[in-house]
Amino acid sequence: MTGENMIAGERRQSSETFRAKDAATGEAFGEPFFAATDSDVADACEAAAEAQKVFGALPLSERAAFLRLVADKIDALGDTLTQRAMKETGLPEARLNGERGRTVGQLRLFAAEVENGAWQALRIDHADADRTPPKPDLRLRMIPLGPVAVFGASNFPLAFSVAGGDTASAFAAGCCVVVKGHPAHPGTSELVAGAITEAVAKAGLPAGVFSLLNGTENTLGEALVKDPRIAAVGFTGSRGGGLALMRHAAERRVPIPVYAEMSSVNPVTLLPSRLAEAPEDLAQAYVGSLSMGAGQFCTNPGIAVVAKGVEGDAFVAAAKEALEQVGPQVMLTDGIAGAYRSGRDRVAASAGVQELLTSTCDLRNATPYLYRVSGKDWLTNHALGEEVFGPLGLIVTVADFDEMLAIARSLQGQLTCTIHMDAADTEEGKALMPVLERKAGRLLANGFPTGVEVCDAMVHGGPYPASTNFGATSVGTLSIRRFLRPVCYQNMPQYLLPEDLR
Ligand code: NAP
Repeated sequence: MTGENMIAGERRQSSETFRAKDAATGEAFGEPFFAATDSDVADACEAAAEAQKVFGALPLSERAAFLRLVADKIDALGDTLTQRAMKETGLPEARLNGERGRTVGQLRLFAAEVENGAWQALRIDHADADRTPPKPDLRLRMIPLGPVAVFGASNFPLAFSVAGGDTASAFAAGCCVVVKGHPAHPGTSELVAGAITEAVAKAGLPAGVFSLLNGTENTLGEALVKDPRIAAVGFTGSRGGGLALMRHAAERRVPIPVYAEMSSVNPVTLLPSRLAEAPEDLAQAYVGSLSMGAGQFCTNPGIAVVAKGVEGDAFVAAAKEALEQVGPQVMLTDGIAGAYRSGRDRVAASAGVQELLTSTCDLRNATPYLYRVSGKDWLTNHALGEEVFGPLGLIVTVADFDEMLAIARSLQGQLTCTIHMDAADTEEGKALMPVLERKAGRLLANGFPTGVEVCDAMVHGGPYPASTNFGATSVGTLSIRRFLRPVCYQNMPQYLLPEDLR
């Protein structure tokens, strides 16, 4: 661990430093980390633009081999990586080991995706000289956008950070990557960046394929996004952060796409017949999903919608009882803990909101909160539909199904929407589906939204404010599409056509 930035394989210091913090105590520990300077940003982007010429044109088998090499190098970090991530994030060992598996698994999944080649979407329309007017020869393929700026997320220090989904999909698309490391886990980032740098060297690729920049000031991310050599941005974090990066991208002489995954309350709607069957079981499962990982998941189900009445009351009582058993959990950063407390204050002070479970939430420790509000009051207060990042649940009790439908219609864009239903709820389910599918990237039946499978059919994205680009997903193989664009070659002589289109 040197704390240095990694600019195209070269480790660099600077005059500004910051320290990692022990998540459990909030105390700074270990070696200083060097904040990247403007010239570090420029050098990383220049090296990426140069390397792009080679990396973007690499045979697919070599690109796939590189992704597997990155995975192998991360595997080789073993427990050192887990222990460092535990200290910096406060996340438990089992969770981080699982996340490491997910991280290398998704790199290998993208290697297979690169090889299968379907993402290239090759299309060929042959010429027809006899047609009037004559039809030209048209051939389409996808090409990489160019160097991508990736912002590591605080809540997934491995799977959404330096070698996380954004980096893996950008590499798979043939794009070089410059990562802005999240300051909450700089040591974890350095270890992973070291693994990628070794893989770049071992694969014989130009060093500019990958760089890591450290820092704690917004100006670093701004400089990176505004660098003219950056062609796209991948981000997971706050709505404020994502929107700021969008503004910077739009202010450039040449604007670029920003794929920001930001905020979602992931409503869970429990239809009457299913709720009547097992209100306590459903409440237990809801609480498990709500409080997992101190509620620091983008798919955390912050809102549950139930009909008022005996079953709704049983659900509320059981959820309260289950949440009372959940002890304090360390949050990822002081900022996230502070935002959790102010989110709680906002919800608690809202008209018509009844506090069901309160607790003392000191410094970095999150304890759960549970509130109830009527459907009528929820519908008149737009702010109650905003994300509170942490284990805070709001149960909305509706007077009838029309009110349930009205709530679904007034939801903001979501990553997920869930319906719990059985055969007797079919009509209500059919009425909800066309509303909810316009609100979210993923719809679930009889499950809970935490736990995002990395696979071909996954969509992790959704209409604003879930993301800035509702046509995309940031998880699963389809995420490669974010960093590609289609090019059509018309009447191109064979010798100029890309090989795969000949
Ligand atoms: P964040 O504050 O948005 O920061 C994420 C990254 O973006 C950091 O590297 C940060 O670096 C950079 N950044 C933030 N604002 C920026 C700006 N205006 N200009 C340039 N760069 C900027 O997210 P966080 O620290 O992970 O957590 C804060 C809040 O984000 C949470 O309380 C939660 O509400 C939300 N969050 C949501 C999700 C989700 O999945 N929906 C995940 C994580 C967090 P610097 O601060 O060093 O500039």
